[in-house]
Amino acid sequence: MRKVSIFGATGSIGQNTIDLIARAPDHYDVVALTGGANIAQLAADARQLHADVAVTAYEDRLSDLCDALEGSGVEAAAGAQALTEAATRPADWVMSAIVGAAGLAPGIEALKQGATLALANKETLVCAGALVLDTAKTHGARLLPVDSEHSAVFQALVGEDMSAVERIIITASGGAFRDWPVSDLAKATVEQASSHPNWDMGQRITIDSASMFNKALEVIETKEFFGLDPQRIEVLVHPESIVHALVGFRDGAVMAHMGAPDMRHAIGYALHWPHRQRLPVERLDLAAIGQLNFQKPDLARYPALRLAWDVMERGGLSGAVFNAAKERALDHFIARRIGFLDMADCVAMVLDRFDAELCLIDAPLTLDNVQQTDHLARQWADDAVHKRAG
Ligand code: NDP
Repeated sequence: MRKVSIFGATGSIGQNTIDLIARAPDHYDVVALTGGANIAQLAADARQLHADVAVTAYEDRLSDLCDALEGSGVEAAAGAQALTEAATRPADWVMSAIVGAAGLAPGIEALKQGATLALANKETLVCAGALVLDTAKTHGARLLPVDSEHSAVFQALVGEDMSAVERIIITASGGAFRDWPVSDLAKATVEQASSHPNWDMGQRITIDSASMFNKALEVIETKEFFGLDPQRIEVLVHPESIVHALVGFRDGAVMAHMGAPDMRHAIGYALHWPHRQRLPVERLDLAAIGQLNFQKPDLARYPALRLAWDVMERGGLSGAVFNAAKERALDHFIARRIGFLDMADCVAMVLDRFDAELCLIDAPLTLDNVQQTDHLARQWADDAVHKRAG
């Protein structure tokens, strides 16, 4: 039996992971399941999978969780510290699917235990790439990508030598506003930004897809995961979301990874790696699809995407600044305090302020520094929003 833990079990990735694990209950011994506000789902899954412990991120929800787990034999815990402690429990395979920077500390802790970390939480590598990779190396742990683009690249690289890779191209659906006139984007509403043409995901990542902040994070994640020069990373808008990524080699060959847009493929690949197991995902019917389209992204439509290269150029803690400012700008957009396009402007203002007031490049990449930077970048994002609103 493989010991598995799922961080962010109640979310979209977490539920898809549970779907796969619940199909083969005799193969898995579930150690920890974690969630946030959705106590009913967390408790139901912990009961069904006979988890050792269920953890909610919110301390004030502990009594609700205890009530929901009464008589189940599942231990209950709450709070950020409890999340990190849950990651110290021995597990062979850990899914990192908490949303946002909160996923970083439990992920690092799991790596310290030598677990295989299936990484859906893209913020982990964006905020602390070198630290995370060093931790994995030091503790003999393995990182496996779960983001569909990075899983696609990882699969296209099997048996290949990185020195033969010329470029990596990740695709983007273009999100909810792909076909809108650019002049209308400033007025786009939260509801409009929350509907994705192809993927069924949580609200925050869906809005981040419409703005391409999500793609910007993925570009940075690509650089960190595969150690590629930023100038060799490209993005293509591909409305059908069938080709997830392409790898170009020095002999001119390009390997493309295709599949139906279903996260259970990338999750299942990471779960069964290095083997391929039968997965309950739709089989591609290319004749029915007929044609696949690709376009260069229009940076006037997606100003957030350009920021990815600024961040990679700045290096150091700027990934943590970028992510925190982006999360806060998104909060303000969802609360209707700023417009859709203001998000990218606010994040750019925070990055510039860090450049002007602090030396990001030289600060060592430690968990403490990442967390302090995250905190400060959120405050400065609030300042930027107030400046804009004023
Ligand atoms: P969801 O919003 O659906 O789920 C997020 C999970 O994190 C939930 O379990 C939520 O709990 C929990 N959570 C929320 N806030 C906190 C917190 N402060 N501390 C601890 N746990 C918290 O997100 P997704 O599943 O869509 O995405 C998860 C991660 O995977 C993100 O980093 C995303 O970018 C990445 N990803 C997602 C993809 C997708 O298809 N959804 C594709 C590729 C990557 P609760 O719901 O109970 O409040």
